[in-house]
Amino acid sequence: MYYCIRFSPKIRQALIEHTMKDPSKECGGFVYGKVWRTENGVMCDIDAIYYEDKKGTNNRFVFTPSYIRNGRKAAWKLEGMEFMGTYHSHGEYPARFSKEDRESLQAYFGRGKVTLIYSPKHKHLIGEFMDMDGKSYKAKLLSKK
Ligand SMILES: [Zn+2]
Repeated sequence: MYYCIRFSPKIRQALIEHTMKDPSKECGGFVYGKVWRTENGVMCDIDAIYYEDKKGTNNRFVFTPSYIRNGRKAAWKLEGMEFMGTYHSHGEYPARFSKEDRESLQAYFGRGKVTLIYSPKHKHLIGEFMDMDGKSYKAKLLSKK
């Protein structure tokens, strides 16, 4: 079983640029696209992002209910794309899933969704996909041509 998250270079760049606006503070946003299954795995295409100018602290970012509402609404305007999950930055820390990232953030958005983390300091992007078994799987990040 494999898990892949694919980005167009433009979207990947837009996500990174958002986190670089104030790299010492955590921030976050939402991702949209498509998910489908192949015989051996799951493919997620990320074709759009949405974010608002909201900042966290150097080690925490909270998706408020109103921000989540706006993030879900943004999908309505993106024809053919669905709400695929979230991304957030790890201010001055490595891109690594914390217990909270898995047990609160990812669990909240649930099955069939992706969670991405970018570390501006370490220039490192990682992602996981929560499958239908409720477990979170490390995804390979690929570039879409
Ligand atoms: Zn985190």
